[in-house]
Amino acid sequence: MFLSGQGFDWPGMQATVPLGAHAWNVPAALSGAAACWFVREIADLRRSSPRVFVVFGWLAWLFIALAVANLAQLLGFGSVIAAVGNVVFLATALFTLVVVFLAWRRGNRAAGWFLIAWTLLETATIASALVLLVADGTQAEPLFYIGLPVSMVLAAILVALGVADRLREQRLALTDAERRAQTDPLTGVLNRASLLERLDAAGARARNRDLPIAVLFIDLDHFKSINDSFGHRAGDACLQAIIAPIQAELRQSDVIGRYGGEEFVVLLSSATAGAAYPVAERIRERVANTQIIGFGKPINVTCSIGVAASDTLGLMGEELIERADAAVYAAKWSGRNCVQVAMPLAA
Ligand code: GH3
Ligand code: MG
Ligand code: MG
Repeated sequence: MFLSGQGFDWPGMQATVPLGAHAWNVPAALSGAAACWFVREIADLRRSSPRVFVVFGWLAWLFIALAVANLAQLLGFGSVIAAVGNVVFLATALFTLVVVFLAWRRGNRAAGWFLIAWTLLETATIASALVLLVADGTQAEPLFYIGLPVSMVLAAILVALGVADRLREQRLALTDAERRAQTDPLTGVLNRASLLERLDAAGARARNRDLPIAVLFIDLDHFKSINDSFGHRAGDACLQAIIAPIQAELRQSDVIGRYGGEEFVVLLSSATAGAAYPVAERIRERVANTQIIGFGKPINVTCSIGVAASDTLGLMGEELIERADAAVYAAKWSGRNCVQVAMPLAA
């Protein structure tokens, strides 16, 4: 609230000291400007209501103008400026209340915290103003010395909670966006780009520690005919259904990603060809035992798996995938639904 310098009896302040009143009005106006900029952020107005965002920007500059005008009060027009200031304060306070309430209704929790803080502060301020209107300064003292400061401290705590809540939400949103950027939307496993990144990292780690690494290339058999017979949606359901059986055979340090349409690659860390082969066999068996229902008669899928390991091939990275892919072709030639291990090429 703006002080006119005449009729406002702030405790401990001389009622007729205009300079003191101006000095008080300047930080009040500046805090109004800061509040406007803060509301824009906490209520996420840039995204949700761009026009209201702009309005709050203009209001902030209006408060800055009021702060300057208060300094200019010494030139006269003191009561006009105080009156304009009070109208702007009141209108902005109510507008803020509505905007923040709507933001909270849209699901913005941080705005909810701010709404409680704002209501508390406004109630304390209005109560103080009312007491001043009907009573003398001494009766208003408890409100000024206890009511207002306590409500300000509580409001500050609530606003801090709101900001912390907003930061937490943003962090979660970022993590979610990162996760979505790394995964294949249909199956939820890593997409090809992230899989290759992991392969590089795993290769570097294995080299540093002189440990082996193995790659399984899993390709579904006759998948085109599953699509043709049962429809594309059934094909999608098959791709989703085989993930759990594959993962059931993996350790936490192993990685699975979708390499292509009906092709998946598994990275087995610290695994030799000898250790990778039985894992591949168990995966093949689990996939073959999986039935996909809900599309007419139950669908059975099988897969062919190529195994390539660094201990036998002396290769790392994408070269391992290439060799595992070549082993899949051999598995297809051998009649499908089987595992083939890539052997070193004859010199
Ligand atoms: P093979 O046993 O030799 O591997 O035969 P295949 O039919 O599995 O292999 P092919 O490469 O001829 O066909 C792969 C099929 O996978 C063709 C394509 O329509 C299908 N496909 C690829 N991506 C998707 C997908 O996201 N959803 C569905 N439903 N089908 C897909
Ligand atoms: Mg294929
Ligand atoms: Mg296939």
